[in-house]
Amino acid sequence: MAGSLLIRINVAIQRLELAIASVLGRRFPPDGVCLAGVQLEGAVSTPKPAFSLKDIVGDGFLWGVPTARRTIERRLKRKFGDPKYVLKILKPASNIRTCNVCGDDHLAGVLCPTCYKKVIDETKEMQETIQNELQLSPVEKEVVVLYQGEKDGKPDEFWEGKRIVEMQKPRPPWFSKNLLQQTTQQPATTSDVKPSDLG
Ligand SMILES: [Zn+2]
Repeated sequence: MAGSLLIRINVAIQRLELAIASVLGRRFPPDGVCLAGVQLEGAVSTPKPAFSLKDIVGDGFLWGVPTARRTIERRLKRKFGDPKYVLKILKPASNIRTCNVCGDDHLAGVLCPTCYKKVIDETKEMQETIQNELQLSPVEKEVVVLYQGEKDGKPDEFWEGKRIVEMQKPRPPWFSKNLLQQTTQQPATTSDVKPSDLG
């Protein structure tokens, strides 16, 4: 029963196809007929398409690229500068001074690196001595760094409330005891230039 019904429907569709083909005119390949569903608005919610980076990137990015060739003259000017304006090539320095203490050369207006290295080394040594002496105990008192034989001159009251760290060597002659001492004093009564104790 069901089989004969299907055959009848099939035949009906074929006849319909023939009828439509005769109306539209015969062409090769022949026009096909199919059933198409019409979606009613709001009846079925369409699922959102999955987000993909490909949607953003697409075929690729376009970067800014040079559109005109630079001439050799322009390239060289960009690289080495122009003597008329800014010259980028290395020039001999003319502001070299000779240190009065050690005799090394250095740029004018800056400290002599050779002499300054002495200060760096001495400070490092001092820091290590303080670290070894105080270890991890909290620093609650003023820390005073002394060199050999400097503790004798002052009374005991002076050292009260201070942590004394002693360096096991005499004070270098270039290292002043009182770096905060002013170099000038008004009114000047003597012709001595401070700071003193510079050795
Ligand atoms: Zn020097």
